[in-house]
Amino acid sequence: MRHPHRDTAAMLALTLALLAGCATTGPHGEQSLILIDTPTEIQMGLETDVGIRREYPVHTGAALNAYVAEVGARVAAHSERKDVQYTFTLLESDIVNAFAAPGGYIYVTTGLLKAAHDESELAGVMAHELGHVIGRHSVRQIQQTMGLQMAAELLLGDTQSAAWQQVAGLGAGLFTMKNSRDHEFQADQFGVKYLVAAGYDPEGILRFFQTLVEMSGEGPTGAAGWFSTHPATEERIARARTEITLYDLGGSPRNRFEDRFRQATARLRG
Ligand SMILES: [Zn+2]
Repeated sequence: MRHPHRDTAAMLALTLALLAGCATTGPHGEQSLILIDTPTEIQMGLETDVGIRREYPVHTGAALNAYVAEVGARVAAHSERKDVQYTFTLLESDIVNAFAAPGGYIYVTTGLLKAAHDESELAGVMAHELGHVIGRHSVRQIQQTMGLQMAAELLLGDTQSAAWQQVAGLGAGLFTMKNSRDHEFQADQFGVKYLVAAGYDPEGILRFFQTLVEMSGEGPTGAAGWFSTHPATEERIARARTEITLYDLGGSPRNRFEDRFRQATARLRG
């Protein structure tokens, strides 16, 4: 007995596999099948960025924006993924949050800057978000939730298609999109890797998690934002700590840049 639908699905899977390919998506060289190619991912990121900027105001202080972009660029310089450009945007919000959209768009909030104590903590959060981009986590999550049919439509269709509308509709919804536990661990592993490569104290990421745990009782303006999308569990902290032990820090300087961070964020703190 023939199953026409199954044949169609098999053909579709084959076409996609030919169009797409494997990409390195793990901190230790792990590979994944990526159906949504980079130009499509960047287009998704552009649409998401428009949605986010519509919903959340971008911070207006030029010096602080430049500082955030500079710290971001310092960690992004070590990214193995060179097919996207990284942009770091500071959003004006008291909610402690950071997130990544497809295609290299990374956001942090002024609330997060107020919660952090030094530059290595901020760099740690950015390196973690960068990890989501390198791991192509949003793309993999979209592939998984939309299924083959939708992935094909994204790849082959125009921006007016239903699949595109659905992705565009995610927009600021990414703010509340929950990352899977595995993707969180992987982004932490990448975070540690880039902190070490950029000469930061890799424990910055751990200290920031601990700050979040301490703030978790403070309601919606506390850590609720990042907590809801990036649960900072004890297990996660322990695993990031183990990851740090994999690197030979060899007595090289482990910078926290506390003074520079304090100076750059002084006006925010009032
Ligand atoms: Zn995350």
